[in-house]
Amino acid sequence: MKSILSKFTFAVLMFSSFYCFAWGLTGHRVIAEIAQHHLSSKAERNIKKLLQNQKLAYYANWPDFIKSDTTGVWKETSSWHYVNINAQKNFQQFKDSLEAQKSPNLYTQIENLAKKIKDKNTSEADKKNALVFLVHLIGDLHQPLHVGRYEDLGGNKINVTYFGQNTNLHSLWDSKMVEDRKYSYTEFANLLDIKSKDEVKTIQGGTLQDWLYDSQKIANSIYFHTPKDSKLSYDYNYRFEATVERQLLYGGLRLAKVLNDVFG
Ligand SMILES: [Zn+2]
Repeated sequence: MKSILSKFTFAVLMFSSFYCFAWGLTGHRVIAEIAQHHLSSKAERNIKKLLQNQKLAYYANWPDFIKSDTTGVWKETSSWHYVNINAQKNFQQFKDSLEAQKSPNLYTQIENLAKKIKDKNTSEADKKNALVFLVHLIGDLHQPLHVGRYEDLGGNKINVTYFGQNTNLHSLWDSKMVEDRKYSYTEFANLLDIKSKDEVKTIQGGTLQDWLYDSQKIANSIYFHTPKDSKLSYDYNYRFEATVERQLLYGGLRLAKVLNDVFG
């Protein structure tokens, strides 16, 4: 029994790490670019120093690229990109099941990385890696299906077609829903980043757990509107256009908040 179970767990892990690729290139860069606009001057200075004057967007996808590394150094990071939780009735239940998860995941790692950066004993090289991961993972947290259900691995097992092409729900939300808008990442960031100071403050409010719960609620709506074998096209984009934009904007503003807290 034990070996069947461990084979099953292994298969699930292989499956999830193979398919989980997070917001595509543009999505992560839009989030990083919006955050860049909202850094405090102290955070901006400290980050510039760590990244040798490079901008956040340049590094935003690196934690996905290293999934192809064959040395095994980054292997343990593949589970950091998501936290799968089945739908919960309310925030308290969500929080309980989030905290019950012991293995490293999106939630535990965002907290760890922030601590690592604040720790005076962390080397500059490790601080830089932690920063890059933080930029990426706050992005992943705002792709709702990175806080999706266990049973379908955040939508990876829900096959759909999108304009006649075979794909799955997770991958559709990672990239196609963003890339199909045909904006460059800077164009998209500039178009979205138009909120007033007060609105920005409201969006940046709440805790990491609130933000995860927010994503899960959106994931539930996506699941509801996208049963398996759905044939999706213009009407699906129309329905979720505002959701995609909201998540990119909120991701960017909240990333700035986290970075200002950590580096400010
Ligand atoms: Zn990712």
